[in-house]
Order: sequence, then structure tokens, then C-alpha cells
Amino acid sequence: MQPDITSFDEYQKQYQYSVENPEAFWAGIAEKFTWRKKWDEVLNWNFREPKVEWFKGGQLNITENVLDRHLEERGDQPAIIWEPNDPDESNIVLSYIELHIKVCQLANVLLRNGVTKGDRVCIYLPMVPELAIALLACARIGAIHSVVFGGFSAQALADRINDSGCKMLLTADASYRGAKTSPIKEIADEALTQTPTIEKVLVLRRTGTEVSMTEGRDLWWHDELNEVDSDNEAVTVDAEHPLFILYTSGSTGKPKGVVHTTGGYMVYTDYTFRNVFQYQQGEIYWCTADIGWITGHSYIVYGPLLAGATTLMFEGVPTYPDAGRYWEVIEKYGVNIFYTSPTAIRSLEAFGPEIPEKFEMKSLRVLGSVGEPINEEAWHWYDEHVGRKRCPIVDTWWQTENGGILISPLAGITPTKPGYAMLPLPGVQPVLVDNEGKIIEGNGVEGNLCLKFPWPGMFRTTWGDHERCRQNYFATYPNLYFTGDGCKRDKEGYYRIMGRVDDVINVSGHRFGTAEIENAIDEHPNVIESAVVGYPHDIKGQAIYAYVICEHHPENETQLIAEINQSVNKIIGPIARPEKIQVVTGLPKTRSGKIMRRILRKIAEGETGNLGDTSTLLDPEVVEEIKAGALKLK
Ligand code: ATP
Ligand code: MG
Repeated sequence: MQPDITSFDEYQKQYQYSVENPEAFWAGIAEKFTWRKKWDEVLNWNFREPKVEWFKGGQLNITENVLDRHLEERGDQPAIIWEPNDPDESNIVLSYIELHIKVCQLANVLLRNGVTKGDRVCIYLPMVPELAIALLACARIGAIHSVVFGGFSAQALADRINDSGCKMLLTADASYRGAKTSPIKEIADEALTQTPTIEKVLVLRRTGTEVSMTEGRDLWWHDELNEVDSDNEAVTVDAEHPLFILYTSGSTGKPKGVVHTTGGYMVYTDYTFRNVFQYQQGEIYWCTADIGWITGHSYIVYGPLLAGATTLMFEGVPTYPDAGRYWEVIEKYGVNIFYTSPTAIRSLEAFGPEIPEKFEMKSLRVLGSVGEPINEEAWHWYDEHVGRKRCPIVDTWWQTENGGILISPLAGITPTKPGYAMLPLPGVQPVLVDNEGKIIEGNGVEGNLCLKFPWPGMFRTTWGDHERCRQNYFATYPNLYFTGDGCKRDKEGYYRIMGRVDDVINVSGHRFGTAEIENAIDEHPNVIESAVVGYPHDIKGQAIYAYVICEHHPENETQLIAEINQSVNKIIGPIARPEKIQVVTGLPKTRSGKIMRRILRKIAEGETGNLGDTSTLLDPEVVEEIKAGALKLK
């Protein structure tokens, strides 16, 4: 299935039309799907309660659109290509016909174990094909999936299971990630001591590690498959039936259980996938995210499969067995579209350009970035050493709550600028507001990024706590969805995300987004990555504290600091010069790879006693090291 938009002129026309006639615009796109019953009303909304309903009265099953409708035309085409952690293990290729069979079988296993429409199912699996199959099997029977990233701890897993009251857990004996094996069944067992709602646990054999199986509760995946056939009639659900719950990354606080529904999410992920990446029939598309995050839900599973694409799933990590793994996989399968994160790009940059340059990667046509602002240096590195200056980069800005990409170039169609997400997609109406909520018109301006009109892929609530949803996103500015991000609209009207508003640093009355200062610091040839925060300062109000990771340990730290200051001076101005610069070996990140600046802020403020919710923190040791270094600096 082809992109709808193929030229910039057409983008502008479609955009205009989508703003003037949003209902007609989205109805026209929704028509192309398989519905059991068409909707009565395209859109019903208010941002006060908030209440948003798309395609109300419509009935469907999303898996008929992901699978059944492709069978005739592209049944034998690969739907999923799976590349294992260990390059010497065999890969797996599932055609649309095979994927359909597997989804139906697992759907029957769920039904056989008492899971029905509306029940919540927790999925805690490594990046294996069964993970994608599990999402779709739940959707097939109208059960609501809640995927928990396979690297989370027992406590984080238990909290998520309990928050959404899951009835069943799907997990594996253990998982492989790089050189490590993680005993995920053992971790799940620990979580299960405090999850009263779980009745059954389905266990996949992945590593062959011995695990303990609790009689009456735990079932082997392969045994259960022997008990079912592959006939499964998809359950009909309403367009507004919840499809899944997914917890946010926890960068800014306790993770929120974001709820997405069926019809709008389907229309939006398919539309954005086809148009942003300009997917052409037969191409191999690879998104390196984990399905435990929204990017994996929308752009490994739903978007690509709805569009009839071939989607690649990778079990491992970018540096195993060596830092050339991504490039090797691109060559192995002739990947055409590659979608990754700034954190992955920066970490691979540290190994030097010689590594990607060993590979031709001629198949690459489009590159994508998501998750954090991409600094200009990393953007250029990606462009030169991966894309060889012939692949457009789509810097896609969006959030778990959004369901799909909101602001991004369309590959090869929209102009690009390093660090810029550029323009809103059709149907997306961003506004910048000042701190009083007044809309800032015109170009060459900066403000708090909000959306003033709903789009089909947006979330509907936070699970079990609608008030939290209202408070968090809709109460700051009346009648607007507030993203929490700061944003600049330049003279030409292009959008650039400046980082989280809560992280904005105010030095003597000058406001700086974190992305802006980090971008300048990262220009130093020896700096791989940096994070800046503000801390109280007697004269300036706030001063800037920078944490930097170097490629090589600096021989002379004083000189490094002077050079970083020069770089900031040149790019932004002396006012943005960090007061303190601390060289670190790592930064506190969420398990989805985002910097947790709130922890760094506490350390900069000298307040290390209570670091807040750290349940999604990847590496607590890094925090200890930074604390020790910060003390020495004082
Ligand atoms: P929490 O909401 O729990 O604090 P989180 O916001 O990190 O966690 P996600 O939904 O995974 O959870 O991330 C969305 C955020 O990621 C956005 O609000 C934005 O700050 C950042 N982001 C994502 N993509 C981009 C991008 N292309 N450019 C700049 N920032 C981005
Ligand atoms: Mg967020």
C-alpha cells in the first residue's frame, strides 16, 4: 500500500484540507479499512473532561486489517523477519499467511484459558516473534494488552500488573540480550507473589534454562499450542474499545498507564507509517525500538503490518557481538528504511566512523530518529556515515500518549534541517503558548507545545484514573492538550523541540531549553553526549550544570572545560555557559534510553537523599558514580 502524499505541494494541500475539514479528511482515510460496521459519527470531543471519540458506532477487529485483508494479495510476502541476538542462530521469516495462523492459534490458547474481551493480559517477553504474535492474539479476541519491557524488575512488573488488573501473564524462561542472559521467568515469579489478579501464566521456551512451573497456574506455550487449531473468528469490537495500555518511560516522574483505543489508533498508525517513511511495496523496514515502548507498538507491529509492509524485529543490542551489528543486519537483509534513536546513534558514534564505513548499506533509502531531540553533530554523523548523504532523515517527534508521529518531515518530500522535526502531519494542529496559555502567533517564536485539536491516534485516558489524565495533560491550558515539551517555530515556520518545559533553565531572565545547550556542548569533538540542568544560584537565579561523557578521558580537564565553554559561547552566547561541568562515564537513563534530568537536577542541587521514582532507571550504579563526582566538584 502506497503513501497518500507524494509531493510537497500535495502535503500542503492535504494539510490545509485536514485543518479545514478534519472529519471529512479522516473519514476518507478510514474508508479504506475493513469495518464490520461503519461509524455513525466521525468525531466527538471536548478537551475539558477530556472526552475524545473517533469513528463512534463503528465496529471492527484490527487484526482483520493487520492480517486477513492482506492474505489474498500478499499472503506469501514476509510480514515479520526476525534477527536473533546471536548472529549464528537461525533467523525466522513469517509470511502474512504464517503470521495469521500463529495469531489465530495463540488467540485460541488465550480463549481456552478463560481470557475474554475486555480482560487485561500482561506481556513480559524478550524481542522474539511471539511478542508481536501475543499483541495481535490479544487484539484478535478483544483482550487489552499491556506490554512490560522485558528488562524491567520484578517490582516494576508487579506494579504494572496490579495497576491494570491483568488476568494472565505471557512470559519466557529467560532472555538473551547481548552477552547477557536474563532469568525473566524467575523475575516474573517474584512479581507474581504480589499480583492476586493473575490466574494463568503462559511460558515460552526461549533459552532452555530450567525454570520452576507452578502447578495449576503456569503452562508451557508449546504444550498449549498442541491443544488448539488455527481457526479463529476475530471478535467484533467497537471503534472505541481499548486496544492496549502502555506505561510511559518515566523520564519526568511516575509512569502513566496510557490507554489507546482501536479504530482511531489503527487509522493513525497506518497513515503515518506509510506517509512519513514513504514506504514502497516490497521494501524492508527496520525499527530498532523494543516492543515494550510505544515506538515498537506503533512502528514495529501495528503501523507496518496494517500497511502490508515487511517489518524486521531484532532481539539483540547494537554492540553485540560488536558495534557493527546494526550495519551488518542492514546489509544482511537489504534494509531500505531504518528507524532508531539519538541515544543509539550517539553510542555508536563513540566507536568511530570506520565501523559503519566497512559496510556499503546501498539498500538504505530513508533514516529515522525518535525518542529525544537529536543534536546536530549526531544528525550529521547519521547523515554522513550511515545514510552516506543520500538518505533523508525524518526526525519524528511524538509521545506515548500520541499513538503515532505528530511532527516530522515526510521522507524526501519535506525539507530537513538538523535538529528539527520540521512540520506537523496532516490532521495535527500544534500551537505554541506562553505561560499564561495565550497562543503565540507567527514565526520566529518559542513556547509551550500544545495541540488544539484531536487526532485519531491520541490516547483517551490513563488507566483507572481519568482525573490524572485531565490534570496532567488538559488542565494546564484550557481546551488544549499540553505535551510538556518546549518548542521553537523558526522564521520559516519549522518546528524544533527544545526539551521538556520542566527542564527549562532560567539564567538571569534568559530561558534555555536543555536541547539547545546540550547541542552546543556536543559540538566539542571529544564529547559524545551531555545533559544539562539548572540549579539555584544567588545572582543569576539559576546556573547551568553540565554532565558530559567523553569519547576519550580528557588529559587535561581544565582545557576541556575551557573548550566546551568556547563552543557554547560561539553557538549560543556567554550567558549560556555552564557554571559547572562534570565529566562522567554515563548518564542516568530510562530503560527506553532517555536521560532522566530530574535525577541530575537533584544531584546538582546537592539534594541526593530522595531521587523520586527511579523504577524505570536503567543503571543505578551510574547515579552513585555521578554523586561521588559531584561532591568532588564542590
Ligand atoms: P514520562 O511521560 O513518563 O515522563 P517520557 O515522556 O520520556 O516519559 P515517552 O512517551 O516515551 O515518555 O517520550 C515522549 C517524549 O520524548 C516527548 O515528550 C519528547 O520530550 C521526547 N521526544 C520524542 N521524540 C522526540 C524527537 N524526535 N525530538 C525531540 N524530543 C522527542
Ligand atoms: Mg511524557
